[in-house]
Amino acid sequence: MTPQPADPEHIAVSRTRGIMIDWKDGHHSQYSLRYLRDRCPCASCTGAHGGTPEKGAASSPFEMYKPALKIESVEAAGSYAISIAWNDGHRTGIYTYDYLRSICPCPECTAPEQENSGPRQE
Ligand SMILES: [Zn+2]
Ligand SMILES: [Zn+2]
Repeated sequence: MTPQPADPEHIAVSRTRGIMIDWKDGHHSQYSLRYLRDRCPCASCTGAHGGTPEKGAASSPFEMYKPALKIESVEAAGSYAISIAWNDGHRTGIYTYDYLRSICPCPECTAPEQENSGPRQE
């Protein structure tokens, strides 16, 4: 069994509900907006640059008011990823298909591995 690179057969985007992906191996993944936004892999969201995330233009005088999260647009980034533009002004996140597949929230993918877990016993 060689691991196959994640390859989507079909991607359905709902700007208010999330993204659904049918993979070529028959697997189906469904990601909610919040789930994807919280897992944005860009440097400012993951803190890779070491500083505090900049607020800049995204901050508003009405801090209490947060509009419901929505996707503004989704664009293909090469043949291996998609970039998502959010309605909060954030648009630097590039979600590779490998990454999306690895964060698939379905019970099958989130279940603890049965095989090769724990020390082997003879
Ligand atoms: Zn980000
Ligand atoms: Zn899954």
